[in-house]
Amino acid sequence: MVQDAGADWIHVDVMDGHFVPNLTIGWPVVQAIRKTTNLPLDCHLMIQNPDLYLENFAEAGADYITVHEEACPHLERTLSHIRKLGKKAGVALNPHTSQDTLHYVSHVLDLVLVMSVNPGFGGQNFIEAVIPKISKLKAMFAANGRDDILISVDGGINNQTAAKVLAQGADVLVAGKTIYGAADPAQAIRELKAQAQAVTH
Ligand code: ZN
Repeated sequence: MVQDAGADWIHVDVMDGHFVPNLTIGWPVVQAIRKTTNLPLDCHLMIQNPDLYLENFAEAGADYITVHEEACPHLERTLSHIRKLGKKAGVALNPHTSQDTLHYVSHVLDLVLVMSVNPGFGGQNFIEAVIPKISKLKAMFAANGRDDILISVDGGINNQTAAKVLAQGADVLVAGKTIYGAADPAQAIRELKAQAQAVTH
């Protein structure tokens, strides 16, 4: 349904009950989703020790593998590994984590997932304080010659908050409740897409 409604990617929230309190799904479900769609699968690993499972998610059919900065003591190595598996490498930043932490890994980075809620549960309220992080990331990567790195925003995205993050230069909007909790999910996707397409940056 979301594919038919025009969703560009499928974002998969993987939670381990350790890095975040909630427990969701692992790579067998990613494998099952892979069989249902040709859309890019954007796997957001909210898990400790993600290095142990990168091959599993790659083989399951992930296109983007996004790890949390806070869960990776050797982030450059982790991102290089994801790229060696032939996948796009992403880093998620919790709301309190500075954009500066990514300055020295921009050479192995394809996507930044700016968390606009504390990860772990759906349906949380958007944290306004993270908004400036988007334009700071854009400026930092432009200075590093990497203006192709995508900035995605995850948490509390609806028509109102989407406008704010798009204005800062966000490239990708992740929405859960706004779509899956809507009376008409297809219409919710069309509204978010129309907003994104109206912005040129
Ligand atoms: Zn997510």
